[in-house]
This record gives sequence, structure tokens and C-alpha cells, in this order.
Amino acid sequence: MTFGRRRFLAASLAACSAPLFAQAPPALLPASKGRRVVIVGGGWGGLSAARHLRALAPELDVVLLEKNPSFFSMPLSNKWLAGLVDEKLLTHDCRAAANAYGYTFLQAEVTALDRERRRVHTAQGTVDYDWLVLAVGIRHDYAAWFGEDARAIAHTRQNYFCAYTPGAEFRALKAKLENFKGGDLVMTIPPPPYRCQLSPYERALMIGHLFKSRAVSGRLTLLDPNPLPQRFADVFREQYRDQIAHVPHARVKSVDPFARTIATEFDDIRFDEAILMPPQQAGDLAWQADLIGRDAGGKPSGWAAQEPLHLHAVGDERVFLVGDMIDRASPLFGHYPKSGHMASRLGRIAAQEIAARAGGKAPETLLPESSCFITTRLEPQESLRLDTHYRLRGDGLIVQSAKQNVDPNPRGEDVDWAKGMFGEFLAYRP
Ligand SMILES: Cc1cc2nc3c(=O)[nH]c(=O)nc-3n(C[C@H](O)[C@H](O)[C@H](O)COP(=O)(O)OP(=O)(O)OC[C@H]3O[C@@H](n4cnc5c(N)ncnc54)[C@H](O)[C@@H]3O)c2cc1C
Repeated sequence: MTFGRRRFLAASLAACSAPLFAQAPPALLPASKGRRVVIVGGGWGGLSAARHLRALAPELDVVLLEKNPSFFSMPLSNKWLAGLVDEKLLTHDCRAAANAYGYTFLQAEVTALDRERRRVHTAQGTVDYDWLVLAVGIRHDYAAWFGEDARAIAHTRQNYFCAYTPGAEFRALKAKLENFKGGDLVMTIPPPPYRCQLSPYERALMIGHLFKSRAVSGRLTLLDPNPLPQRFADVFREQYRDQIAHVPHARVKSVDPFARTIATEFDDIRFDEAILMPPQQAGDLAWQADLIGRDAGGKPSGWAAQEPLHLHAVGDERVFLVGDMIDRASPLFGHYPKSGHMASRLGRIAAQEIAARAGGKAPETLLPESSCFITTRLEPQESLRLDTHYRLRGDGLIVQSAKQNVDPNPRGEDVDWAKGMFGEFLAYRP
């Protein structure tokens, strides 16, 4: 982090805390008769936490705050971009899930957390909590490219958005790809860790397929700090030689979104259109509430520091951290995969932790698992399933075992998996 960015962060934190908490804001909900759990973020992690809390601790008042009116699934969104999955499967009404399970859903953006008063702030008022589950996902670290240049950040967000957080960008990206008439499209891939590690390559495959099947004379260039996974290297070479170029070890040094150029360590690349993915970090609220991990020298890790076995924030057993926003789980493998399946399992574990504490019991140690389906070829179809499992070692460290299964003849297992997950936390019935 540069001095400028540090100063900016310190200034915004100071601006957030002092005047905001000084006034007595109106309450958004009447005081709870019992104890209340507030969940911020209605994605895979937050929705799972809400659903399981209702089942495990029906005596608790559960309130879910989400800024979007509905849930949109990023898993399967790449296939949806290419017209291979129906949007109906990906979008779900958050209120219907809340009604089915019996918790309160409020569409509201949380602007700040006051951990001392155990209160969340929204533009419409505040909500007090006994326990908080924070499941706000990620933010894009545009400052890594642009420092404090707000104009460049705004221009990039508006024109070269990457659609890696749920919301309007997905439909805008689909429209952009459908209207693309040809030319150089560049997609930057961030350094790890980032959401669903193979998803940018799957997206590239779908874009290559769109260009080829519609005879668009466009070329997608992937600027990637990582090497290209072998299965994608094979299919890009065999089937999309004219549509997709992959540049490995291409770390973005700077971006000029007005001149439409990207400088890497080796080259300057010009683009007509772009999907620009800067490095990823824990969502804004984790920064505002001072939940970010730090190394021995005080440098922020970028991710919200959790106690690895119980998922509460380091130093605060009233705040649980769930999903893609969390920090390293173990020095043996680093981060858990940032996947929807993992976020939902972490949401369930946080619910079990809170239910045990509310019932005056010692929480059990529970570990998550994750499965992730990725399409690696379309003609003929082939997919990859990545399974990760975890166990505790004698010294208390979490160990990961990972397995990859290639399916050369898939029959919609990814869609069945998604339907099963939606059945668990969105009350989805096919
Ligand atoms: C293109 C793509 C493909 C993917 N494919 C797969 C896949 O095949 N399989 C898989 O398992 N995973 C996949 N993933 C990853 C998966 O989507 C994420 O791991 C998952 O969404 C993480 O869940 P989460 O709850 O941590 O965050 P999110 O799902 O991002 O949910 C966070 C929620 O918090 C809300 N929020 C944020 N800030 C606030 C605030 N201040 N106030 C109120 N609400 C707020 C957001 O609106 C959002 O709804 C993919 C991701 C992408 C981008």
C-alpha cells in the first residue's frame, strides 16, 4: 500500500466513525423482545446463515439486510452469458426465502458498523444486534491501479466493469457482449486470491464461443498474472485460436482507461473494449469496521481476519465473518476457495456457533467443504468438478485435501448442484 492510499484509508475511516456515531439515529426496527442476530449480505453466505439460524435457534430474532432486491447467482452466470442457462434459475426473490424460513428481510445498504454499541447503520436507520454475521463478499481494489484518481476509477467502473459482484453489472456485461461488433476485447485476471479461481477462464471460453458461433471478428486477450490451466490451454488452442489469446505472467502495472491502454511488465496493450478486474479484497464494511487482518509489520492482508475454527472476528466474539471476505484459514494452504458452496457452508457454521452460544453451550468445531463445477469445453461438453475437504491436524491447524474430477460427458450436474443449493437456502422448488 502506498503512502497516499494509507492516508486515504485513514481519512475515510476517521470520517466514517466520528460524526456518524455522534448523533442518535432513528431505529429501523422496533427493539427485539429477545436477542437479535443481524446478518449483513444476502449472498450465498448470508442467506445460508439466516436459514440455519432459524432452524437451530428459533428463539432468536433474525434480520437479514441486503442492498439488492433479489439474489443473483454468479455460479452458472458464465453459461448464462452465453445463453446456455435460463436467467430464471439464477434470480430469486430474497423476500420469498425470508417468508419461507421465517426471518425478517430488509432491503437496505449498511453504511457503517458500530461494534462498540453493537449497531449497524443504514441510510434509513439503525438496527442493534446481539450477534452480527458479516457476509458482504468482496470489493475491487481499484486504488492498486489508480491510487486516489477518482475520475479514472469512476470511468473504469462505469465503462469497463467486470461483473464479479452481484448486481446490475451482469446484465450490462451480457448486453455489451451481445452488442460487440468486433475488435480487441481485453480481460485482466487479478492476482490470487480471488473469487472462484477458474471462473475467468470459463468466462473466456463462453466469450470465445459467442464470437465463433456468431462470426464476430473479435479477439479476447486475457492478461493473466498466473499460468493458464492445462485444460483451458488445450481448448483455447484447439478450438478458439482466432478468438482467444492468453498472455501468462502479465501483471498489470498501470491502466489508462481514457486512452484505453494497459501497461504490463512486458508490453503496452491497447483495447477497444475491456473487462477490467483489479485485485480483490474483503468488502468495504470490513475496512470501515476495522476487521482487516494485519501482518507483523502492520500491513493489511486485505481480508477480514477470523478465528479459523469458530469464524468470529479476531478479538470480537459478537461478530462472525462468512464467505469470500475472510482471511487465510490455515498457514498450510492459505485461503479457503472463494466459492458459493464454501460461503454457504461457512454461513451454516456461523449459525451453529451462534445457536450454541445463545443456548449457553460450547460450540463444536465444524469444518466446511466445497464443490465447484466449471465448464472446460463446449464442443463436445466437458466439465471439471473441484472438491475440497478439511480436517484438523494434531497441532490444531486445518489441513486441506483437494480432488479434481474431469467429466467428459456431463448431463447437467452443475445445474442439479445449483438447484440443490438453492433448495437449501432460497426455499427453491423446481
Ligand atoms: C463469474 C463467477 C463465476 C462463479 N462460479 C462459481 C461456481 O461455479 N461455483 C461456486 O461455488 N462459486 C462460484 N463463484 C463464486 C461465488 O459466486 C462466490 O464465492 C460467492 O458468491 C460468495 O458468497 P458471499 O456470500 O461471500 O458473497 P456474495 O455472494 O457476493 O454476497 C455478498 C452480498 O452482500 C451484499 N452487500 C455487500 N455490501 C453490503 C452492504 N454494505 N449492505 C448490504 N448488503 C451488502 C451484496 O449485495 C451481496 O448480495 C463464481 C463467481 C463469479 C464472479
